Amino acid sequence: MALRYRLTCLKHIISVRLFSHDATQPCVRVRFAPSPTGMLHLGGLRTALYNYLMAKSKSGAFILRIEDTDQTRLVPGAVDKLINILEWAGVVPDEGPKYGGEFGPYIQSHRLHIYDENATNLIKNGLAYRCFCTPHRLELLRKEAMRRRENPGYDNRCRHLTSDQIEEKLAQNTPYVIRFKVVSALKEPLEDLVFGSVTFDPSEAERGDFVLVKSDKYPTYHFANVVDDHYMKITHVLRGIEWQSSTGKHLQIYRAFGWTPPKFAHLPLIMNSDGTKLSKRQGDSHVEYYREMGYYPEAVLNYITRMGGGFTVESTEGLTLEEMIPKFQMERINRNNGRLDIKRLHVMNQIHLQSRWKTGPQDLISKLKELVKEKYKDRFTDENQLSHILSDEFLKSVLEWSTEHRIFRLEDLLTTEFEFIWILPDSLNRKQLETFILDVKDILIKTTDTLTTTKPFDEMTIAETLKSLNKETKSSFPKYMSLLRRVISGQKQGPSVGEMMQILGKSETLRRLQQALQTLQP
Ligand code: GLU
Repeated sequence: MALRYRLTCLKHIISVRLFSHDATQPCVRVRFAPSPTGMLHLGGLRTALYNYLMAKSKSGAFILRIEDTDQTRLVPGAVDKLINILEWAGVVPDEGPKYGGEFGPYIQSHRLHIYDENATNLIKNGLAYRCFCTPHRLELLRKEAMRRRENPGYDNRCRHLTSDQIEEKLAQNTPYVIRFKVVSALKEPLEDLVFGSVTFDPSEAERGDFVLVKSDKYPTYHFANVVDDHYMKITHVLRGIEWQSSTGKHLQIYRAFGWTPPKFAHLPLIMNSDGTKLSKRQGDSHVEYYREMGYYPEAVLNYITRMGGGFTVESTEGLTLEEMIPKFQMERINRNNGRLDIKRLHVMNQIHLQSRWKTGPQDLISKLKELVKEKYKDRFTDENQLSHILSDEFLKSVLEWSTEHRIFRLEDLLTTEFEFIWILPDSLNRKQLETFILDVKDILIKTTDTLTTTKPFDEMTIAETLKSLNKETKSSFPKYMSLLRRVISGQKQGPSVGEMMQILGKSETLRRLQQALQTLQP
């Protein structure tokens, strides 16, 4: 037995001893088997995650297998991107194309010889046969079935070819597919680990014998999937519910080979918040989108498990991947489809942001410095101003204030709402300033003078000071605040004026008041 597999099993045996699992069970081996047809979407990541958690919670192995047998749908670069995003999420395979392993190759197009050998064995044993029917004939059969309102399917004509007829076709190089001899009387029962007992009637979805190997010599999904799961010693198949109806076919193939099938668990769908299906074309259904938007991987993992269940706790909110492992229990996975709710993602991200702020503030400070430099580099005019804004001390105070309850992601600090922190707002002219209050010059001078001596320069003290100043001036308080808000931030709304002044600090606040006063000089 190969070394890596022996090691995984050894880990399993030790864990059996320590945690009294059933020692007669083989060590758990699960796989995530995507087709490289585009970017990984949230549903795919959840399937990968549940497989990963299953493996890690049982000291087993998590395998990545690339199912690329439909050569017409391949997207160049998709495999690398897929591995990259799985690694970003922390859902790292133990075996797979980049990682190696004893059961490779892990890309189906590199395993054609294995499918060929196994299909040939089935033919030899009379359980599969070559079908020489032309695409034209199959099309006629399809149309005929449609006309009769029947399920489409094959009429099994080539099952009955004599060996002479077959030899003749082969000698003429007639293209062929290999079909499986479906035992139509056999209703395969399945004990789905999530959905309970399910029975498959082979004639329900598709009538007749289905294809195992196509005329281009590539296997179909069904055939390659079963052969690989067998040779890769997969013990549990956790996959989306959309594949449940294929399991009947798979069970028949296992039976034909005399192989023991793995256990199956089908996972409910993740839907949009309005109950519609997630579509691959929808930008925000891709994991990449969330990475680019600055969400943390742990938050995205919490988010996608929110509607799937599968844990001993009500919610995975705030848990890291590592912490999710011992709490995972497959029997607790829900049958109901779940709906996404982006508001929860915000909250989940905020929790991880806060915990990163506690455990590694310097990382956040450096990241924020980079983001601010990148976004506003062409808008800084004053060198002193720039070194103040980019100083660790200033960034620390911004983060201390904002991570508390103001932002969900670090990137939120770069939105228009918080632009006032980084750059001077455009100055308003006299006419614009006077739309707030007529004796604006007077009021701005008083405000500047008073704030110069305000101590401590914090939100509460500033708010109190401004309130009493307002009484003296007898202007309307909302108008006074709107004026200061515009002068300080250039915005019509945002955090309270006191909060904004505190975050800017005294000298920057005074500088902005001065800027406004300058426009009032005769
Ligand atoms: N290749 C299938 C997919 O793209 C895998 C289904 C399965 O896990 O069996 O999702």
